[in-house]
Amino acid sequence: MSAPATLGALLAAARRRLQAAGLDTAAIDARLLVEAATGASRLDLLAAADRQVAPDAAVRLDGWLDRRAAGEPVGRILGTASFYGLDFALGPDTLEPRPDTEVLVETALAAVRSGRLPGVSPDGAGLRLLDIGTGTGAIAVTLLVKLPAARGLATDLSAGAVAVARDNAARHGAADRLDFATGDVWQPVAGRFGLVVSNPPYIASDVIAGLDREVRLHDPHLALDGGADGLDVYRAILAGLHDHLLPGGLLAVEIGWDQGAAVSDLFALAGLGTIEVHRDLGGRDRVVSGVMLSQSD
Ligand code: GLN
Repeated sequence: MSAPATLGALLAAARRRLQAAGLDTAAIDARLLVEAATGASRLDLLAAADRQVAPDAAVRLDGWLDRRAAGEPVGRILGTASFYGLDFALGPDTLEPRPDTEVLVETALAAVRSGRLPGVSPDGAGLRLLDIGTGTGAIAVTLLVKLPAARGLATDLSAGAVAVARDNAARHGAADRLDFATGDVWQPVAGRFGLVVSNPPYIASDVIAGLDREVRLHDPHLALDGGADGLDVYRAILAGLHDHLLPGGLLAVEIGWDQGAAVSDLFALAGLGTIEVHRDLGGRDRVVSGVMLSQSD
């Protein structure tokens, strides 16, 4: 029988195996999988590289490396992904939260903290927010964690996603300020909100087959497919917005990199003002925001 592997040897072998599979993210993926399989911290990997690893951890890692080499994302393998510094459980019905979506959270937080939303204090007091198509709950839960006095409603077409989002709200201590409802866009929504956010499905149906295998094979298509031109869900949101967004309130949605102009036009047609397109860290258009005009505007 061979001697038990050390942490350092296991990490190096994992990295080589993922590099050989052609993954650009081999180094970080190997580190995350070794940490999760062995319980070692990032510091342990540096400072305790000669620590021996239990055989069951090495076997577990081996299975995970096979799955990662075959294209399954690390978040799916571990069942959890980090968003805005918080860990979120994933489910079969949820998209894996993307770093790009942090721009949507930033846009919403900036609006609240600027004091521009009528009747809302910078800590969120007075705010009821709505997250349409919440998935893991990453957007709504992060906003409530950052705005300790705000309340909200998170909806999803998928009951499975709502269950995952509910768990994530509890995990981050936001369950008592966040309500949930299952249904399509406005169908499960009652009342008016000072802030409406959404990362809806926005990929054009015929583009989905050409997406990276990580997305195509492992993210639920219900969370991706935005209809023939990718804009169906924005139209549905805008169609019911006047009944649910308070005057002076903000709508902010995530968009595909090439949808800034089209979604801005839809916002203008729906009568929103102060329409802005916000870029992600890669410099691509990622979020459109607009303000519900009051009667006197
Ligand atoms: N940003 C995701 C992707 O490019 C799509 C998310 C969505 O449709 N809302 O795969």
